[in-house]
Amino acid sequence: MRRTRQRIALLVLPVLVGSVLLATAPAGAEPAGSSAEAVRSHLENPDQVSLVRIHLSGADLLDRVVAAGFDLEHGLKRVPTGIEGEAVVTAEQRAELAAMGVEILADHESFTWSDEADGGLQSVGAAAARAAQTFSHEATVRVARADWFTTKGQGFLYVEARTTQGQQTSPVVTMQLENDSGPGSDFAFARTMSRFVDSGQYMFHRNLFKLDTRPSQIRVTSSTGGVATGHVSNWLEDGVPPLTANPGYKSDFVDGYQHPQQLHDRIEEIAREYPKIAEIVYLPYQTNGYQRKAQATIGGTGQAAVVVSSAAWGHEGGNEITVEFVDRPGADLPLAVEVDGKAVRVLLAKNAAGGLASTAAQVAQTLKTQSGGLIDRAHPYRTNAGTGIVQPSAPVALTDFLDQKRAGAPDGEVPRGPNTIRALRIGKHRDGRNPGVLIQAQDHAREWVPATTTLETAERLVHNYQTDRETKKIVDNTDIFLIPTNNPDGANYSFYNNASQRRNLTNHCPDDNADPARRNSWGVDLNRNYRVGSAQDGYAGGSFSCVSDTYQGPEKLSEPEAKNIVWLAETYSNIKFFMSVHSNGGQLFWQPGAYIANGRVTTPRPPLRDELFYWQSASRILSQVKAHRETVVTPENVGGSSDVLYSSAGNVREDLYHTYGIYAFGWEVGGSVYNPATGNWQGGSFQPPWVGNPELVSGHAETMEYANGIMEMFRIAAEWGKDHKKPTSKLVPGGGTYSGPVDVRFEADEPVSIYYTTDGSRPTLDSPRYKATEFREPGEVFHVTETTTFHWFSVDTAGNIEQNYDPSKSEARNNFRKATITISN
Ligand SMILES: [Zn+2]
Repeated sequence: MRRTRQRIALLVLPVLVGSVLLATAPAGAEPAGSSAEAVRSHLENPDQVSLVRIHLSGADLLDRVVAAGFDLEHGLKRVPTGIEGEAVVTAEQRAELAAMGVEILADHESFTWSDEADGGLQSVGAAAARAAQTFSHEATVRVARADWFTTKGQGFLYVEARTTQGQQTSPVVTMQLENDSGPGSDFAFARTMSRFVDSGQYMFHRNLFKLDTRPSQIRVTSSTGGVATGHVSNWLEDGVPPLTANPGYKSDFVDGYQHPQQLHDRIEEIAREYPKIAEIVYLPYQTNGYQRKAQATIGGTGQAAVVVSSAAWGHEGGNEITVEFVDRPGADLPLAVEVDGKAVRVLLAKNAAGGLASTAAQVAQTLKTQSGGLIDRAHPYRTNAGTGIVQPSAPVALTDFLDQKRAGAPDGEVPRGPNTIRALRIGKHRDGRNPGVLIQAQDHAREWVPATTTLETAERLVHNYQTDRETKKIVDNTDIFLIPTNNPDGANYSFYNNASQRRNLTNHCPDDNADPARRNSWGVDLNRNYRVGSAQDGYAGGSFSCVSDTYQGPEKLSEPEAKNIVWLAETYSNIKFFMSVHSNGGQLFWQPGAYIANGRVTTPRPPLRDELFYWQSASRILSQVKAHRETVVTPENVGGSSDVLYSSAGNVREDLYHTYGIYAFGWEVGGSVYNPATGNWQGGSFQPPWVGNPELVSGHAETMEYANGIMEMFRIAAEWGKDHKKPTSKLVPGGGTYSGPVDVRFEADEPVSIYYTTDGSRPTLDSPRYKATEFREPGEVFHVTETTTFHWFSVDTAGNIEQNYDPSKSEARNNFRKATITISN
């Protein structure tokens, strides 16, 4: 009965429909888990899990919960009162979460942004009037973003604004947001903005709400008197045709979820069919493999219990071992072990009175040394000292549990043993001359849509190369590396055994967590195993616990799956773009992605140039996603991942960006689709039904729309490689004579770094670099109060320098840019 209930709990996650792959086992097949052996450890079933929706008060609680080993990676979102997310938990863990202060939500309790105007401006107006007496020029409000978008017939406005008094808590500064109804109309519809605080640090105020008419301007008023207005911009471009709209363009190749063997077979086939533009790169570090030691916990879970593990992998003989605890007649008998083939018989000691006299600790020690090499790990259960007297037991068959298939597992056997991860390399010139783009999917095993998205991308490239001009441009001008599954062992485990598996299959646990009932809790979170901003260095969001779903591993880059990515970056130095594809969440991330919680110290922020380039690229990529079925990834879910979501220590993006200068995106595909029927945003799942509801939750639709986005990323890379155009920049307003102090800033025709001086010297790469006012905001404003001469030059992302100026040569021409702001009084 217990097993049946467990299956139901697991099926909360996936409902698998319409895939040949996932057809049920043929009639007459042996039911999963049955076996000829008479006895099997009664602890073979890992604890039952279920999915719950939770609310956390903030990032500090999130860090504590993650550090305690809980599984809450995906589907997390920021809400004004903290963070909401989903957790895969046992009943016991659910109680622990509650004890830590985590709220378990019922469905209807999830946060949704209100779309009602609250008319609160009047009272704030009064407060503003009261505060006006103490108003100083430092008390400012700035609008960071005011974004308009539509999806499925509904308009939305998203606003972020900051007050310089945002950190103040007594009283908390409140902000009111109004919008007009188009050019020239009045401000109205006041709403109170949500104050977003993370790790004790004020971030900004923000709101997302429905609107039927696109506003032209917004106005934000703080309770201490600051006022700012801002123009409303369009978030994402509407009406951009996706490549799939080109005449004759072929798409929609992937027809169901693909397990690792299918993914590897298909990309090998592609390389054989299209040898002129494709090849396989076999990554050098082999995985642990879909294999485990055979195990059993014998004698309950008390002080008399013994946990045994085979020396050989299960499929290499471990599964044939049996262990028996034998009570012999007589008295004064020593503890001994007899081995006959693969049968291990422990002859329990007897005392002078003829009573059993071997403790679990003694039996474990004897098994390790006297089993003829069959058993190399034996210990008391979990943290027990093993002081109990071991009782006799019939022969128990050890097992690696990998033959126990979950309901709905695909047909076929999974090859055992280490796996070689493959990258499919596509490009006409695969010699380093073109910019490289690395797409890495399924670091997390249960995320099946990233794998199909990556495979669909490969199919589109090779099938359209001869016939579609845009595709030919991509293949001729980029060097693409596609890893459809970077965690094949875990992915196999997710397909065949434990659908919610996230990590790889390597067990690093010491004895207290090494018993087989813990087997679904082992493994390393591959996206916490990297070197920059790691938990070892004090960053939040990676765990030291080997049974945590964000376990970072025993050391940085301990895992072959992570070593391979570093190997690729070092071997192919032309790789300049990277996308780590995850699900599910509807988010697009870059740096910073980790911080030290105390003081909220992030990894270094990208300079303004890279930040603007990331935003520009994100807009293009997400506009292509939207073009498929109007899925909008909202601006609140785009940016530095630790700014908009949470800190993830040791993630791959931080490493590739900071170590190699690679533009490194992270993507959470799926989820957060607006449902016009309910008026709410609907979340997705790791393994949505393949066909499902094509307008809402559907693995197929997600695969198609996000493949559009990856194709756009290739176009960005191709253009970047061809970018020899010098950037141009200007000071706004420009040089001239002004009657009083004037505010100036730099503008450019593309994302650039601007280096400037105001002391008359030549600008160099060591001069001050123009920066953002604050994160997620545009460039800073200089308040010029006396006559000042600016010298500057700009550098774009491809390294082109404005006017061909050479900042390194002191003797060179002074062809940098110059402007003098003359203040006449
Ligand atoms: Zn993931």
